[in-house]
Amino acid sequence: MKHLLKISSGKNADERIEPYRLQLWLRGFRYERSTNAWVRLVGNHGAKKNIRYAKDRGLRYELLDKNVKRNTSYKAKWVRENPPFLGMYLCAYCGRIVRAKNITVDHIVSVGRASTSLRYARSGKDVNAIENLCGACSNCNSIKDAKGGLWVLRGKIFRHRFMRLMRFLFRLCLAAALVYFALTLWQPFLERVL
Ligand SMILES: [Zn+2]
Repeated sequence: MKHLLKISSGKNADERIEPYRLQLWLRGFRYERSTNAWVRLVGNHGAKKNIRYAKDRGLRYELLDKNVKRNTSYKAKWVRENPPFLGMYLCAYCGRIVRAKNITVDHIVSVGRASTSLRYARSGKDVNAIENLCGACSNCNSIKDAKGGLWVLRGKIFRHRFMRLMRFLFRLCLAAALVYFALTLWQPFLERVL
């Protein structure tokens, strides 16, 4: 499987790509003027070697694959497969009720993460596949950004409608139990007042 490896300047002043132009050219990279990046088609081995080269020098790298590019149709696809209930959704991350018009579709494994992960590229998974999408409130979506770990785990569990519903019902029961206990605690006091 071939991937397009793209190397460009890092964040800091001493991580510019310019000093490496000749080395990159000798490594078979070609300059892409529009993005000020150096690109090359690589196999698995070439990807590993050249990613290490970029990492060691603080350069930014991106491994592009037809499966890793964000496309614009993923939201429509997600909405088609997940119609709202009474015009509402439950956020996959926080579980809050969100109006259908305010729901955002989030990549559980973010496009950025997928595009810099050789393991993800090797897996042949499509970043825009329905299994990698979940509905989130805009707040969670912006906090989550490109985070991994527990966010990804939560996304993977609660992208299922059944799991979101279970969590919602669990919280509802918990709230009811709390109200019930609060009332029984206050009962002697209420009896005296009423
Ligand atoms: Zn949320």
